[in-house]
Amino acid sequence: MRKIAVAKGDGIGPEIMDATLKIFNAANVALDYQIVEMGKWVFDKGFSNGMTPLAQQTIEQTGILFKGPMETPKGKGVKSVNVTARKTWNTYANKRTFQTLHGVDSVFSKAGIPIDITIVRENIEDTYGGVEHMLTHDVALSRRFITRPGSMQVIRYAFEMAKKKGAKRITCGHKANIMKITDGLFLDVFYEVAKEYPELNADDVIVDDLCMKLVTKPNLFDVVVLTNLQGDIVSDLCAGLVGGLGFAPSANIGDHISIFEAVHGTAPDIAGKNIANPTSLLLSGVGMLQHIGLMESASLIENALLYTLESGVHTGDFGDKTTPALNTTEFADTIIANFGKQPKHNPKAYLNDVPFSCSVLHLDKNPMLETTENTGEKIVGVDMFIESNVQPEELAKKCLRHAGVKFKLVNISNRGTQVWPTGSRYTNLVNQYNARFESIDDTALNQQDIIGLYVNLSGDFKICSLELLNSWGDKKSYSLAQGQ
Ligand code: NAD
Repeated sequence: MRKIAVAKGDGIGPEIMDATLKIFNAANVALDYQIVEMGKWVFDKGFSNGMTPLAQQTIEQTGILFKGPMETPKGKGVKSVNVTARKTWNTYANKRTFQTLHGVDSVFSKAGIPIDITIVRENIEDTYGGVEHMLTHDVALSRRFITRPGSMQVIRYAFEMAKKKGAKRITCGHKANIMKITDGLFLDVFYEVAKEYPELNADDVIVDDLCMKLVTKPNLFDVVVLTNLQGDIVSDLCAGLVGGLGFAPSANIGDHISIFEAVHGTAPDIAGKNIANPTSLLLSGVGMLQHIGLMESASLIENALLYTLESGVHTGDFGDKTTPALNTTEFADTIIANFGKQPKHNPKAYLNDVPFSCSVLHLDKNPMLETTENTGEKIVGVDMFIESNVQPEELAKKCLRHAGVKFKLVNISNRGTQVWPTGSRYTNLVNQYNARFESIDDTALNQQDIIGLYVNLSGDFKICSLELLNSWGDKKSYSLAQGQ
């Protein structure tokens, strides 16, 4: 029997996980559950990443983690165990499915508009690296990582998944009109991969427009792929379209380890009362069964759940308030009693099980480290981020004094807006400037030249950070300041 790791989680986690496993056991799901220690209570026992070494070992051996929600301890320096798990095991694609569920009222179900949207959110990169610094007492900086191989992984998964789903349309949500380099890279990779899937209609929508379109015409969308933060927000918006977070399953897919979990949190306000709704976790479990090829059990459970919802049975958080709400255990028992019944709407076909193969780990070889893209790279300048509270003209004078024979001062910007050599006196300033230096006559620079400039400038200023300006032929590695 296939082993999987199960972490019950915190708050309502144990209640909804017990209800879900009761349903799985009643359906004779062919799985052997290895219960692992993970969550807030494990932090409290002194394990700084929220899991025991044995839990980590079991998850890495089984390749599948089925988890309840987990609380992130408040306070600085403690990272979310949920995010740690996703990143540690490179579960690069977060797939969330949002479907109309009959019996769960939403604006669209009442209007008779069906919804079947799958959001694929990049799960590792973006601002979720959590690489943040205070550059001055007043200026905080977050680094946003969007990488070519990271984007390639998740976008390829989205296209493959869309093909399997039988989707007609796949859309990239982005903000490449503003973040031309980071979101621009994600969008370029999307269209690069799209060429391999001519059968899918691939298009892109700017994320703010996407939000407006999703809440007005959600039935126009099928599969949507986004970067991490935008995907996080858009997927919660989509949960609202189908009745809330309690009805959205989530899968974190990686090549070697995948994590299946409910989308909602630990619901501390109702924990321990046996009234939580287990639907999100159960649907995530159904997705897990499909992922590992237990198709027949998946459809038996999903059809029983859909039938139960259709018949008006509900927990306290949704449904007809004039009919009594069932508690978590009673809700699970009703689903079990409905095994074998077919829902009127969208019944799931009974498919044969398919064998599951998990790829073998090659920790000594990481193909994502290799790139052919950096040929012909040249350092053409540097952005020096300088702490200063003087006016731009005064700063420019000092910078020009230190530019030496190799550099010219091209411009100075403040929060991305050019303030020297031209600018507006109405631009507000904070105490951190970016002085952009480029090489005189376009000659190539080296790192020693940059250090020389750093040393010269440091006589007058505190330099908070610096970024090299590179070029690859005509392609520049950096954005222009607003107004440059
Ligand atoms: P929450 O999702 O736990 O609760 C928000 C509201 O929804 C509450 O009123 C709650 O009672 C209700 N709710 C949530 N799930 C429900 C369910 N299954 N049945 C009935 N009602 C339900 O969000 P929160 O209060 O912001 O977060 C609480 C904790 O959960 C925090 O520590 C947070 O870090 C953590 N969290 C964990 C995950 C995860 O493990 N993946 C996700 C989100 C939040």
